[in-house]
Amino acid sequence: MAAFGSVFMPEMALSTFNGEHWSAAQNVAADKISLHPGAHVLHYASTCFEGLKAFRHEDGSINIFRMDANIKRLAQSTRLLTLPKFSPELIEEMIVGIVKRFATEVPAPPGSMYIRPTHIGTEPTIGKAAAPSATSMLYVLLSPVGDYFSGGAKPLRLLLEEDGMRCAPHMGMVKSGGNYASALQPILQAKQAVNADQVLFCPNGDVQETGAANFLLIDGNEIITKDLDTSFLHGITRDSLLTLARNMGMQISERKLSVDELLERASKPHTEASLSGTAAVMTPIGTLIHNGKEYTVGNGGAKTPTIDKLRSALNALQWGKAPDPYGWLTRV
Ligand SMILES: *Cc1c(COP(=O)(O)O)cnc(C)c1O
Repeated sequence: MAAFGSVFMPEMALSTFNGEHWSAAQNVAADKISLHPGAHVLHYASTCFEGLKAFRHEDGSINIFRMDANIKRLAQSTRLLTLPKFSPELIEEMIVGIVKRFATEVPAPPGSMYIRPTHIGTEPTIGKAAAPSATSMLYVLLSPVGDYFSGGAKPLRLLLEEDGMRCAPHMGMVKSGGNYASALQPILQAKQAVNADQVLFCPNGDVQETGAANFLLIDGNEIITKDLDTSFLHGITRDSLLTLARNMGMQISERKLSVDELLERASKPHTEASLSGTAAVMTPIGTLIHNGKEYTVGNGGAKTPTIDKLRSALNALQWGKAPDPYGWLTRV
């Protein structure tokens, strides 16, 4: 199977804003766009995106998971980047339209169709370093994906980083390209220095998130995760898992978690820790690395019954094998 996100459907949905109005959504070839080399996005990073999935059910229907939440978040990113505003109806029409167009290509579970709405500033000007792009382009790419864990789920090694941060704090809840560029060097350095898979950013000792996923600590019947503020990305997987866990009777503690408390709780034999995000849903963490010392999380991620239970519950809803009491699925 090709690497995640490297295969695309041949068409995408597209609409452009010319400074006054949005063009009618249309499906166009997905292998190129036309952009002036002076386009605002290429110089001043006026770009944001979303990641969501469509699932094939046994009855043959295609169902998009939490589209409304992703549209809201794209609108929020758009607003915080001062990109031109779009109507939720426009982007919904684009997403549903392109998914319908390629409905027969949506893989069966555990595969899915990954959907990548993208919004970029297109105004050809290098004079607007401190001003927004007057024009923009909105497009929706599709990428069929297989089983994220086809090679087996190896528990992750995470470096706890207290000095650096993933991105500027006021940009944390914007799903914007610049934030990933800013996290890249610390991640590559952690790979090289301590063979870490990811960096868990903990600015001033406050456990936050990794480069592209949220962090959940599971201590018995309790899930501890940072409470929402503007410094980090508000994951829809995080929200979905907390909702399911709450309804299973688990205790949800959305609050500040210090590195000291994390390391102390991690040493208990039953503790589990996980990353959460759309691509993999939940990925167990086996080892935390801090100040040159390695700390095993629980049993090292060999057995993660609570993570498995939560992931299965979310997958069952997404795959149409469990009821959808929250109305999270949109049948296209
Ligand atoms: C996308 C993303 C997440 C996970 O969000 P989901 O909505 O669960 O996919 C978490 N952190 C960052 C930095 C992200 O970009």
